[in-house]
Amino acid sequence: MTVGVLGGGQLGRMMALAGYPLGQRFVFLDPGAESCAGHVGDLRVGAYDDEERLAEISRRADVITYEFENVPVASARYLAERAKVFPPPRALEVSQDRLAEKTFFAASGIATPAFAPASSREELERAVAKVGLPAVVKTRRFGYDGKGQMVLRAPGDVSAAWDALGAAPLIVEAFVAFDAEVSVIAVRGRSGEARVYPMVENEHRGGILRVSVPSGPAITPAMQQAGEAIAARVLTELDYVGVLAVELFAKGGELLVNEMAPRVHNSGHWTIEGAETSQFENHVRAITGMPLGSTRAVGSSAMVNLIGKMPPRDALLALDGVHLHSYGKDGAPGRKIGHVTVRAPSQPELAERLARVRAIVDAAG
Ligand code: AMP
Repeated sequence: MTVGVLGGGQLGRMMALAGYPLGQRFVFLDPGAESCAGHVGDLRVGAYDDEERLAEISRRADVITYEFENVPVASARYLAERAKVFPPPRALEVSQDRLAEKTFFAASGIATPAFAPASSREELERAVAKVGLPAVVKTRRFGYDGKGQMVLRAPGDVSAAWDALGAAPLIVEAFVAFDAEVSVIAVRGRSGEARVYPMVENEHRGGILRVSVPSGPAITPAMQQAGEAIAARVLTELDYVGVLAVELFAKGGELLVNEMAPRVHNSGHWTIEGAETSQFENHVRAITGMPLGSTRAVGSSAMVNLIGKMPPRDALLALDGVHLHSYGKDGAPGRKIGHVTVRAPSQPELAERLARVRAIVDAAG
């Protein structure tokens, strides 16, 4: 089969690397001629709304998916009229607009931080009054890695937030003083079969994911169960096929959903070496109609992102249990250019190895 992928970044690249052993081929669409999935698959360069390119992908691919959630929904729907597209375009639509997303979660009985829309300065004042301070103001669309958002601590901050962000429709959310940020990665096949990976504890800095630890110290068995129930709910409500990521805040044993991503996710990269079947392989299995693989963890593992600049490669590779993934991208401030999975036979050994990897990565800046 040929899998068409909208987006040609590292997520698509790792999807292809996981799909080849299953006999699949890959064709990517991305506006960037240098996209790193092009190193491992056929890259067609074009805009996501270029009908000629979309028609070409739909002719060439047996099934189409995305590795980037800001693909225009109209393009996904155009493709869905001509080919099989998974996850469903509706999942893309919901995840692109923070207001639609939070409204969807609330309607599905899933707890979120309190929220309210704001499209004018007056509405922003009202939304902040409703949600309370501190609050986070975010643009409804096209925010990622903490971009397009501001924390409001005092009533006087409202004006600055409006001046900075008010050009776009906004959402105001209650600021959650969370104990931990966690995520759930789940997968659902075409037959409706679903599986969930061990929940992941995530550390962000500057709005960017730095470290993910599956079954990290903040994750209790009750939390794992609650996370699985949330994922199951979303998968069923959206009649979802493929891998889904849900990001949540854990506070006092409760889970509040922040957002979802209708795709393979950075907090699931540990699954390449750390789980029986990686998120990438399970995504390919799901969308091509194969049985899903086990999501069980194999030993203890953690993932460290490489951001901005590549640390000394050989220093990392000289450590036991370290697996380096370089995406073949040029370094740039804030850009994800690779990751490291650290594996160990026990939790104490993992902690020791992770500390060494972090020291090397942090020293590189
Ligand atoms: P997001 O783009 O929504 O994933 O937000 C980026 C980061 O900002 C999150 O990973 C959190 O660390 C922080 N953040 C976002 N929303 C909230 C919130 N409502 N309360 C506290 N922190 C938040």
